[in-house]
Amino acid sequence: MPTRGNSSSSEKKKPVLYIRTFGCQMNVRDTEVVCGLLKRQGYKITEEAGEADIIIFNTCSVRQHAEDKVWSEIGKYAKLRTPYSVRRTHNQRPIIGLIGCMAQNYKEQIFQRAPSVDFVVGSSDIHKIPSILKRLAIDHRPSTIDPLFQVKIWETDGSKRPEEIYHTGYYQDKDHAYVVISEGCSNYCSYCLVPYVRGDLHNRDYKEILKEIEEAIDNGINKFTLLGQNVNAYQSTVSFVQLLKLVNGIKGLEEFSFITSHPKDTSVELFQAMQDLEKLKKYLHLPVQSGSDKILKLMNRGYSRRFYLDLVQNYRKIVKEGLLTTDIIVGFPTETDKDFQETYDLVKGAGFNAAYIFKYSVRPHTAAENMPDDVAKVDKERRHKEILGLQKEISRKKR
Ligand code: SAM
Ligand code: SF4
Repeated sequence: MPTRGNSSSSEKKKPVLYIRTFGCQMNVRDTEVVCGLLKRQGYKITEEAGEADIIIFNTCSVRQHAEDKVWSEIGKYAKLRTPYSVRRTHNQRPIIGLIGCMAQNYKEQIFQRAPSVDFVVGSSDIHKIPSILKRLAIDHRPSTIDPLFQVKIWETDGSKRPEEIYHTGYYQDKDHAYVVISEGCSNYCSYCLVPYVRGDLHNRDYKEILKEIEEAIDNGINKFTLLGQNVNAYQSTVSFVQLLKLVNGIKGLEEFSFITSHPKDTSVELFQAMQDLEKLKKYLHLPVQSGSDKILKLMNRGYSRRFYLDLVQNYRKIVKEGLLTTDIIVGFPTETDKDFQETYDLVKGAGFNAAYIFKYSVRPHTAAENMPDDVAKVDKERRHKEILGLQKEISRKKR
C-alpha cells in the first residue's frame, strides 16, 4: 500500500474509532464485527466521539423515525475536530462512514444528502472496512490532506458475507454474546424493508455457529442469544430444533435464547424443545403485528388470527412459565376501528409479558408503498396510546 506524505513517529500512532449503533440486535452484532476487524489491525475503540479519528454510523431503516435520527446526528458529528488530526494539521474533521440498512437503502445518494460522509458500506460488505480505511489513508494521512476528504467510497454489492468476520472474538459484554445464525429474510412482509436491505435468508453452516460459540466460551462468555430476522426458519444440514439441541449440549454454556421468531415457522416441536432443553431460556418473542385477518393478509404474514392464538395456547400448555412478547403495528393501510379492535382484543386475551407497539410508516421498495397510507396521524397516535396503555396494565399485573 503506497503511503502519502512524510512518515514520522506520530504517524505510526494507531487511529481511534467510534461507532454509533442504531436499531436491532443484528446491528449491535455488526458493530462488534467491525470493531473486531479493526482491532485486529491495531485500531483503538473509544466511547467518546470527540476522541475519534473515524466515526461510523451503523444505521437502521426499519422505520422512517430511525432514519431521521441518523440524518440529524451526522451533521453534529461532522463538526467535531479530531485530536489525531489536530496534531498534524489544524481544523481537520474525522473520517465519517455510514454502514447498515441505510447504506444499502440509499447507496451513493448519501453523499449528496450528507456531504461530510466519506464512505458508505452495505451490510454484506462490512468486511471491506479495514481496506476502505486504508484507501482513505487513515493510517498514513499526510499533513496536506484536504480536510473535506474529497475521496468518496461506497461498497454495497450485496454478496455473501465471509465466515471469518464472525470469528474475531470481539464482544461488547463480558459474559453474553449475540451469535448470528442466519442473515437476511425471504418473507417479504408487505411493510418491511429488511429483505431489500439485508437480502434473502441465508443460513450459516451449523458447524461454524457451534465453533463461534465454543471460541467465545474459551474467552469467558457463557450466555448466548442466537440471532436471525426470522430465526426459527433456520435450516442447514440440521433444522432449527436440532441446532438448539446441539447448542444446549455445548460444555461451558450456561444459558441461551433466540430472537426473532416468525409464527408461521413456530411449531409444537419447538415448544417441546424449549420445555426440555435445560439451558434454553423459556422466552419467546413472537410478533403478531395485527389481530385482524384482513390486515394480516395485506401484510403478507402467512398466518391467521386463529393460527396465532392456537400457538399461544400451545406455548402456555407446553412451556411451563414461559415468557411471551410481541410486536404490533398500528395504522397499517386500510386499518379500520374494527380491525384495530381485533388487535386490541387479541392483546387483551394473549397476556403478553411485553409488547413493542409501532405506528406504521411507509418504507420504500415495499409492497405496502403502493397501498394508501390512509390512517390519519391522530388515529395512529390514539391506537398506539390505547394498546400501550392496555399492555402496560397487563405487564404490571404479571410482575
Ligand atoms: N424479523 C422480525 C419480525 O418478523 O418481526 C423483526 C423485524 S423489524 C426489524 C422489527 C419490527 O419493526 C417488526 O416486527 C414490526 O413490528 C416493525 N416494523 C417493521 N416495518 C415497519 C414499518 N414499515 N412501520 C412500522 N413498524 C414496522
Ligand atoms: Fe421483515 Fe417480515 Fe422478514 Fe420480519 S419476517 S424481517 S417483518 S419481512
